[in-house]
Amino acid sequence: MDHKASRRQFFSNLGSIVGLAVVAPALFSSKVFAEEKRRGRSGEGGGSAASGDLNLPMVEVGKGQAAAVTYVLKHADVKNAALKIERGGVAFEKQTCANCSFYAKVGDKNGKEVGKCQIFPNMLVEGPAWCATWAKKA
Ligand code: SF4
Repeated sequence: MDHKASRRQFFSNLGSIVGLAVVAPALFSSKVFAEEKRRGRSGEGGGSAASGDLNLPMVEVGKGQAAAVTYVLKHADVKNAALKIERGGVAFEKQTCANCSFYAKVGDKNGKEVGKCQIFPNMLVEGPAWCATWAKKA
């Protein structure tokens, strides 16, 4: 394989990996969410994850996967107009982690509601935050 072909293959593989990182959670979410709901950990049911989960680190805006899905702490921080769209019949401004299908409330931390998100394993997101992977709760 020549240098150009190998470079092309590298970027092709990179595109597949990034695409998979964004799409995979959606593919597996319904099964995981059903399991969370069965355990009473859904944000909707008022259930909560183990209290030790409050010690998990917070997802940081602009880093790694958070940057890839445009995770922001407030809607005003979304600069790309193409992302500010209605999803599942819910206006952009009304979409938050707290009402996202990937979210399970854990409790309050530093005066803010926080929860676990299926696309950020072993980390916490803020209830009022948002990302481009937002999906309406079933
Ligand atoms: S909007 Fe949903 S998918 Fe995105 S970070 Fe918040 S809980 Fe996770």
